[in-house]
Amino acid sequence: MIAELLCVGSELLLGDILNTNARFLSQELAALGFCVHRQSVVGDNPHRLRQAFLEAHSRADFVFLTGGLGPTADDITRETICDALGFELEECAELLEKMRVFFRAQGCVMPNTNAKQAFLPRGAVLYRDGKLTSPEKNLAYWFQNPNGTAPAIALLTQGKCAVMLPGPPSELETIYRHSLREFLSNWADGAVISHEVRTMGIGESAMAELVEPLLEGENPSVAPYAKNGESFLRVTAKGKTAKDAEALMVPVLKEIKTRLAPFIYGVDVPSIEAVLVDALTKNAQTVCTAESITGGGIAKRLTDCQGASKVLRGSVVAYCDEVKAALLKVPREILETHGAVSEECAKVMAQNARRIFASEYSIAATGNADGENDLRAFVAIDSQSGTKTYCLEFPKGSRQRNRLITENTALFQLFSHLLSITQGEKNRV
Ligand code: AMP
Ligand code: MG
Repeated sequence: MIAELLCVGSELLLGDILNTNARFLSQELAALGFCVHRQSVVGDNPHRLRQAFLEAHSRADFVFLTGGLGPTADDITRETICDALGFELEECAELLEKMRVFFRAQGCVMPNTNAKQAFLPRGAVLYRDGKLTSPEKNLAYWFQNPNGTAPAIALLTQGKCAVMLPGPPSELETIYRHSLREFLSNWADGAVISHEVRTMGIGESAMAELVEPLLEGENPSVAPYAKNGESFLRVTAKGKTAKDAEALMVPVLKEIKTRLAPFIYGVDVPSIEAVLVDALTKNAQTVCTAESITGGGIAKRLTDCQGASKVLRGSVVAYCDEVKAALLKVPREILETHGAVSEECAKVMAQNARRIFASEYSIAATGNADGENDLRAFVAIDSQSGTKTYCLEFPKGSRQRNRLITENTALFQLFSHLLSITQGEKNRV
């Protein structure tokens, strides 16, 4: 099945909001085996919307529209698309009552403007379970919106399908998971499964080079991409069933793990901080941070994870030299001869923090994220077995990115250290 997305909303064209609905739908539709050939965006203009829709409808089997189903005058998707496909709108008493109940449950009376959302294509059927009433007829279905008032609508005509979804991502995603996915699975072609291999400490192109022969495969396909200073590989396979697709991926994932071993920190895991908190929890060990360049960012990311209270002892943000000297006892001599941005300073920050916080591990980071020169950072990881340091050289003009890379390096190096200890123990056994 060929699909196109058409997202409606002038706020998208103005760049006020990011088009996360397109990302969500593209990922979900790929998992059902739909091929998304285009994504487009139009503003709240009935003429341009109609034109863009008719073009998409002429090319694709499925057109997914998002946005413009709200109660205000600029919400025109329902009227425009129904008119373009020759469906008349009429008030649906069942839906109107559901909307009144929705407002009542929140302790308010439904504003009159919302009544417009109770208009559905004539004869539209509420989609309830896996079966379609009669897929070959010109038919409209509507889908309950558990998180809001605008229902989703699907119009089946000319052997094609147009699906309209409300713009707010929480509503769109809930409808999709609640009923639309099941509706679409009537057209799903086999199962498409994918896994995400997450790496750090290597750039996207260097990573791609290491797995080059695998990138040519079509099923499974292996696609590299980079985000937030990390490099990822998405491995996707299609099979008759999910089990078949999984089986196709086994040898490819194994080969990737061999080729990228030192850089992989997880497959289908949420983040480096999450795997680090997990690893420390399993070992019943604790960590602390002494941060300058990252301003507490490393501790923040650790505390974002469930279970952080068991592993993070505390953190010092020692931004200026006086605080590095007073709280972390960095000797004046180091600050004067080597400076705060030095391997020596990072080392002492880590060693003293570990002592102060009485933890098994400590992470320290000091550096210059921007400015004219000396753009680099030092990360130190201290433990009973000694202090390891890492030096990062930065390009000019990307302050936030340089800070992010420093955080990533610190979290990843501690994780790698823990992993090497566990693997070393396994080898000994
Ligand atoms: P609408 O149904 O067009 O009135 O959209 C309601 C709200 O949903 C907008 O104000 C946005 O905050 C959000 N929204 C609409 N379209 C998108 C989209 N493509 N991606 C993310 N959020 C969206
Ligand atoms: Mg809108």
